[in-house]
Amino acid sequence: MNVEKLKACSLFLLDMDGTLYLGDQVFPGAVDFIRTLTESGRDYIYLTNNSSRAGTDYVSRLQRLGFPCRPENVFTSGMATAMYLNENFPGASVYPVGTAAFMNELRSYGVALSDGESAQVVCVGFDTELVYEKLERAVHFLRRGAAFIAANPDWVCPMPENEVLPDCGSICALLTAATGVEPLFIGKPNRSMVDLISAKTGVPNGQICCVGDRLYTDIAVAVNAGAVSVLVLSGETTREMLPQSSVKPDYVLADVMELASVLGNSQS
Ligand SMILES: [Mg+2]
Repeated sequence: MNVEKLKACSLFLLDMDGTLYLGDQVFPGAVDFIRTLTESGRDYIYLTNNSSRAGTDYVSRLQRLGFPCRPENVFTSGMATAMYLNENFPGASVYPVGTAAFMNELRSYGVALSDGESAQVVCVGFDTELVYEKLERAVHFLRRGAAFIAANPDWVCPMPENEVLPDCGSICALLTAATGVEPLFIGKPNRSMVDLISAKTGVPNGQICCVGDRLYTDIAVAVNAGAVSVLVLSGETTREMLPQSSVKPDYVLADVMELASVLGNSQS
């Protein structure tokens, strides 16, 4: 394995669920992996498609699990969605289908939320507080021509003991079935997640490495953005799934412990 391209990366975008932990169960060596990044002079951002929580929720969650984390180390699909709305729909009134945390995140970026008849955008997140009335309102606005923007395309959110929760992609599929309108997804694999971080940090995409366990989001975002990708087999992807996928990771490793040993080893 030629690891030159991997070792040249100075910024690591880290998926969390299935990569660093599952639920509250931290994977062995995951905290030490973050230390290896710091000690080798590399930076990191915890990158999540989970739009049910705000960035600040992740800071406290990661710290509670023992990971070093400052506010600037977290970037969520909710944050990227707020930035996208500000850039592409400035001043528009937005009907949110999302958690209270998601709505607060949008508001903190100055997005104007509304459930009035003037809604120009329907913005959907991973709404773990979903009630039927919200779907009904969203369908109402979409049928009248509102834009359909969604935070993340994930069908399900993995949970311990092989359980899953219906995620933003599944909620959007319901709305598409009812209206015929397809959403634009802002989170991974949309390259804007990487582009926004590159613009903010000044690190070119080619020196950014995306690490994750899911081919159609974590690895696809790297491919789309021209970044380097590492698939870890600690989550949903098995080695048997690789040949069937059109999305090809640059590197396939067992877990972030193995990645730490590759990066920490000065003899490549
Ligand atoms: Mg994951």
